[in-house]
Amino acid sequence: MQMPQKVNMPERDPQIRKKDFDQVNTGYSKEEMRAEAKRCLQCKTPMCTKGCPVEIDIPGFIKCLIEGNYLGAMKVLKQKTNLPAVCGRVCPQENQCEKSCILARNGEGISIGNLERYAADAVENIEDHIEIKKNGINVAVVGSGPAGLTCGGDLLKLGYNVIIYESLHDSGGVLRYGIPEFRLPKKVLNIEIEKLKKLGMKIILNTLIGRTKTIQDLFYDGFKAIFVAVGAGLPVFPGISGENLNHIYCANEFLVRINLMKAFDFPNYDTPVYSGKNIVVIGGGNTAMDSARMAIRLGANSVKLVYRRSEEEMPARLEERRHAKEEGVEFVMLTNPIKFIGNEKKAVKAVECIKMELGEPDKSGRRCPCRTEGSNYTIDADMVVLALGLHPNPILPSLTEGLNINSHGHIIIDESHMTSIPGVFAGGDIVGGDTVISAMGMGKKAAKAIDNYLRK
Ligand code: FAD
Ligand code: SF4
Repeated sequence: MQMPQKVNMPERDPQIRKKDFDQVNTGYSKEEMRAEAKRCLQCKTPMCTKGCPVEIDIPGFIKCLIEGNYLGAMKVLKQKTNLPAVCGRVCPQENQCEKSCILARNGEGISIGNLERYAADAVENIEDHIEIKKNGINVAVVGSGPAGLTCGGDLLKLGYNVIIYESLHDSGGVLRYGIPEFRLPKKVLNIEIEKLKKLGMKIILNTLIGRTKTIQDLFYDGFKAIFVAVGAGLPVFPGISGENLNHIYCANEFLVRINLMKAFDFPNYDTPVYSGKNIVVIGGGNTAMDSARMAIRLGANSVKLVYRRSEEEMPARLEERRHAKEEGVEFVMLTNPIKFIGNEKKAVKAVECIKMELGEPDKSGRRCPCRTEGSNYTIDADMVVLALGLHPNPILPSLTEGLNINSHGHIIIDESHMTSIPGVFAGGDIVGGDTVISAMGMGKKAAKAIDNYLRK
């Protein structure tokens, strides 16, 4: 019997979508959802679940979808993830559950992320009705990204009073200030956060823990345990000549100014960003792809994405790469910047690059890029965005006595996510995570560990 064909996610026309910030993937219709869900074989030993970092009962929620039981689907999802509408949109499913799906062997794996998104959106207006028996114990969470929201959400459901402290003026972490609206609408994030607030979660903004209050102050304030989820927000710079020239941004600043401070809407918002016409973005991850696609939307004539390896080695999701190309981003592979050249106003005017070739695999298993001597050339650019990666946020660890970190700046934790300070736990990018789902998985594990710790 011939298997029905995989149903692709409907997308907006690149020529239209590249001029606005609206969502690129428009979501399955009910018919498309059903057609895709019915392809699932409901395996007795589902490989997809094994491939999911938080082990969602994938055939379970798909079965509910087929039966039209959207609340049931949501209940199955919520056993393992507090933010399914977010995960359905941004998780790298192609390297996780979808890759492990038995049908992926023929290139026709189930589109689990698209189905998860459908399930979450179908019940977005329905509140979580959970009976919570309060225990009167206070727990503080530092950072309101996916790790903090997940840990806080789980502790709340276990009966704890949870207060999240966030240094910025809005909550959500990278989900709000990093990932652009066209991939993850803020409305979707707001709905998920509002649901947590209705369950009793308090979020205190504009509070930098370490400076405004220390970890010790939080204990004095009566918190019995603290979960630290401050993420990785310290940009990596290439360390080459000219990197301090004007109009060279790190991707974090570029994206924060646009996503959080609405720089595209100047003068209604007073934090403008320089809008170059010939933009070079350096890097090959999701941050590079988001920056390049954002630059297109800000009206650049040309956006070149410069990456030192080949496209095969790029960490960015395949879909994001395809979307970027469709929207006009030019991929310049096997190329590395060696110098930024400025004009008389100390603004960047060109990037001197060198061609690279791939050598033996390095520690990451990817082939190592080596310089091709004498292959230097310049690319004209009136703006550059550096998206070379992010180091762990150093502020809190550097201001907290007794909190041990490793040589990469990650907070050291034991198997229960406890740090070197008793009662202080940590998770997410600050301990070495690098995806939304890994941050959430750690948040869940830490919530259980905090509950065990406080019950002793
Ligand atoms: P964060 O999301 O970084 O949240 C940390 C929060 O803590 C922030 O709100 C910060 O302001 C706050 N904070 C920091 N210091 C303090 C302090 N001292 N006191 C109080 N608050 C503090 N992953 C995917 O899975 N899929 C993607 O498509 C994807 N795209 C990405 C695109 C971009 C541009 C970036 C930057 C990352 C992307 N990632 C993606 C990675 C993913 O977003 C992160 O792995 C994830 O957000 C980490 O979650 P977290 O909760 O540990 O930290
Ligand atoms: Fe369905 Fe694929 Fe999971 Fe089997 S492995 S249950 S076909 S999603």
